[in-house]
Amino acid sequence: MRFTPNKKGLIGETLEEFTADLEQAKFPKYRAKQVFDWVFKKKVHSIEEMLNLPVDLKLWLSENYEINPTKVVLDKRSNDITQKFLVQLGDQSLIETVLIRAPQVGVGQSDSRKTVCLSIQVGCAYGCKFCASGLLGFKRNLLASEVIAQFMHMAEMDSKDSVNAEKRSVPFDNIVFMGMGEPLANYDALVRVLKILNAPWGLNIGARRITVSTSGLAPQIEQLADEGIGIRLAISLHGATNEVRNKIMPINKKYPLEVLIPAAEAFHKKLGRMLTLEYILIDGINDGLDQARELAKIAHRLHAHVNCIPYNKVEGLEWKRPSINRQNKFVKVLKKERVSVTIRREKGHSINAACGQLKLKTDLALAQSESQPSNPFNSPQ
Ligand code: SAH
Ligand code: SF4
Repeated sequence: MRFTPNKKGLIGETLEEFTADLEQAKFPKYRAKQVFDWVFKKKVHSIEEMLNLPVDLKLWLSENYEINPTKVVLDKRSNDITQKFLVQLGDQSLIETVLIRAPQVGVGQSDSRKTVCLSIQVGCAYGCKFCASGLLGFKRNLLASEVIAQFMHMAEMDSKDSVNAEKRSVPFDNIVFMGMGEPLANYDALVRVLKILNAPWGLNIGARRITVSTSGLAPQIEQLADEGIGIRLAISLHGATNEVRNKIMPINKKYPLEVLIPAAEAFHKKLGRMLTLEYILIDGINDGLDQARELAKIAHRLHAHVNCIPYNKVEGLEWKRPSINRQNKFVKVLKKERVSVTIRREKGHSINAACGQLKLKTDLALAQSESQPSNPFNSPQ
């Protein structure tokens, strides 16, 4: 399903395209930079606030564009570490955005490291057997403006909230595409979003702060390497042989390891960025020591860091996380093979625990019960 809004979202435009639109409407092209300064630097909420623009341009803008086409309908801070926004889109669809505040050793402030986790689709079509987003099925791709909107909402909340807001040139330390959906399946919007995040005329965020996580769409991995944006890539491996991976990730039938690994290798070679292999540990499914040994071989071949994530229970799925003892044994094999490896155990500290498995249904029910009698979900604007 495709969603075409009545007005374009300004935050989802590139400078190039917007300049072309302006010129076609017979406005001088230097106005594009002025409009973008209001949108991305001063972060105004309305076109009326763009003080240095002539009336006819403001009128044209209001007829054809809106700044941010979404709104936050629920702001849920579950603990000191994670905060979740439920964001409503123009067609009433709901998505989630997560902010993770993880303290950094030695810094001593609870908000000393911030990661914002963005969704890229409503639901997900890939149906990985361990994932809550997969359970929901797929509704539609997000527009670039709807992805940037999540960032803008979080940045605004954070600037109101944080004692350090004034001192920060960039609101977040990291941006990860680990929310709902498969980033490489919404390729055009993803690339547009990466440009807007990275560009000096946009949000001016260093590419190395941005991580795209993929379940393994091999052709798009190679295509992304050619875009010349030096982002980081994380591959959700979760199985080190086709046999295990086929059991839990249907995508592996289309792009098995002998196709995925060379694509990842090509990405690494072209961009010189260290890859991350994400590996959820699921009890009795993929946590055998033979898998650890195979995983070590793949990590060496790709010069990749391995991030082990003890499985987080998803309602409706019977799997569980392995005992600490079993987790340790798995990691020990990797360390013995001299693989660079981390394992995140503390609840909520893991980005993946917070945003890789969004439980929209639960939140939707919660929002509906909390928002009575004026229910935002039933009142289209
Ligand atoms: N579709 C992309 C990005 C979203 S998922 C991908 O699959 O990479 C982001 C991360 O969260 C992935 O590594 C995913 O495998 C992980 N994840 C999903 N369900 C999880 C669960 N129940 N416990 C821990 N991590 C999970
Ligand atoms: Fe989709 Fe990623 Fe979840 Fe798989 S792990 S169902 S690709 S969101």
